[in-house]
Amino acid sequence: MKNQFYAEVIEAIKKEKSDDFTKLKTKLSKKYGMSKIPSNIEIFLNSSEEDLKNLKLVTKPTRTLSGVATISVMTKPAGCPHGKCTFCPGGPDSIFGNVPQSYTGKEPATMRAIRNNFDAYLQVFSRLEQYAVLGQAFDKVELIIQGGTFPSMDAKYQNKFIADAYKAMNDFSAEFFVDEEIDLPKFKEFFELPGDFKNEERTRNVKEKILKLKGKNKIELLQEQKRNETAKIKCVGLTVETKPDWAFLEHGNQMLELGCTRVELGIQSVYEAPLKLTNRGHSIADTIKSIQILKDLGLKINAHYMLGLPGVDRDKEVEGLKQLFSDPNFKPDMLKIYPLLVMKGTPLYLQWKRGQYKPITTAEAAEIISEAKRFFPKWVRVMRVNRDIPTYVTSAGIDKTNLRQYVKELQEKKNIVCNCIRCREVGRNKTFENVEITIDEFEASNGKEFFIEAEDVKNNVLLGFCRLRFPSQQLRKEITDNTAMIRELHVYASSVAVGNLPKEKQVQHRGYGKKLMMKAEEIAKEHGKDKMLVISGIGAKEYYKKLGYDYDGVYMGKKL
Ligand code: SF4
Repeated sequence: MKNQFYAEVIEAIKKEKSDDFTKLKTKLSKKYGMSKIPSNIEIFLNSSEEDLKNLKLVTKPTRTLSGVATISVMTKPAGCPHGKCTFCPGGPDSIFGNVPQSYTGKEPATMRAIRNNFDAYLQVFSRLEQYAVLGQAFDKVELIIQGGTFPSMDAKYQNKFIADAYKAMNDFSAEFFVDEEIDLPKFKEFFELPGDFKNEERTRNVKEKILKLKGKNKIELLQEQKRNETAKIKCVGLTVETKPDWAFLEHGNQMLELGCTRVELGIQSVYEAPLKLTNRGHSIADTIKSIQILKDLGLKINAHYMLGLPGVDRDKEVEGLKQLFSDPNFKPDMLKIYPLLVMKGTPLYLQWKRGQYKPITTAEAAEIISEAKRFFPKWVRVMRVNRDIPTYVTSAGIDKTNLRQYVKELQEKKNIVCNCIRCREVGRNKTFENVEITIDEFEASNGKEFFIEAEDVKNNVLLGFCRLRFPSQQLRKEITDNTAMIRELHVYASSVAVGNLPKEKQVQHRGYGKKLMMKAEEIAKEHGKDKMLVISGIGAKEYYKKLGYDYDGVYMGKKL
């Protein structure tokens, strides 16, 4: 059926049979029972060499709302230095096999990592291939390093892993892009497409070709970072996963050298008792110290926070989440909520079996999260409310993967409006009229934060934002007494495919990025600052150069 679909659709294009190509694709997808409507690139990839030269088909990739393609890569299985948290699945030789700590081997990113022998180059390359086939834009990449406590791994390994990832983006750009366009015939030939992804011979062949590219020249971190600044596929953000006691100054500095812009920090609670009871290996004091250091280095913090931990009464959960954003010692920029799941092979599983631990239910988690949404500030983005683990590998705890949906229903019932970034982003069927630049000023980790937004206040729609900080301490030579720091600048790409917005309402190229930066500089000057530093993804440095910034150590800087 699949082949018939492609044959008919290609024939129709050749004969220019249809004005509305999307309609035709939809109709034929239904007719041939396709599981989804194929992208134009998929159609190209299923054409013969002859057809390929003549097909007139727009292959402009679609962009997601954030404008950035995410690539998660996993490090090799390794234990955490403190031992193991009582709920943590996975790890070397675990009940789930030899998988990274905290993962089960069943998550999409872990499965891809296993298929690619935990090689960062192979993982990135295969994800880029996927994006290309799906017709999604991947010229701006946010790279996420997962697999446990990355800064605790051997420094040489960290360095090589990240260099490999940059090189994969650089080589893919050099190999398959001609000017701004992907060279489809070359791409098709290299990846032996259309091909069966389960065909072992094809997989082996493609892997060999990728490894040959990887081995072509020596891989040096600095050199690959430099190459990436002007590559077609740019790494605009790099995220590293760690825990508070592995997120102090030396770790923060090492992360900055790698090009890190955001830290996923497993703080898990604002209470001391559950940290001890679950053998987290860090205290609340460590959490507070690490948050301050990371912010003062200019890094963004995406906190992981657990619900249902032993030692926390259910009626203290909402209060805990409230404290996370009212207590200046915490105030993370982003939040991933993980209701605790009980998994085989963990001490928590035995406690649950013995009746010593009562897991949190889906209804309880939904109730807590919906109530907490009353208190989420405008400057936090709630990234997730559940882990990406299939329920068949868990023994107790949340039994639905679509917890966000349950939370939403409860919110609607109780008339709770969430003000977090995610809930206000333009594009989620939101339109805007009058855009203003607004400022929220607050204390955080002994420093001063300014959350500057481009927003339509009346319609509560967010188009972009900037996080400006006056650090509480000068932790590196680049940071002087009078330095202000921009920890994040984000302007949403509004894609018609995502937001259904008319062209004139698209956010891109409206200069909001520049306006937000100018506002940040203005505020800094008003407060007597004479220098601005920006933490920039390696591939975003060119953008800041256009705004008058230049290299300043690991940052981009400008005299004010
Ligand atoms: S810190 Fe994270 S990865 Fe390490 S043992 Fe605890 S849960 Fe697992």
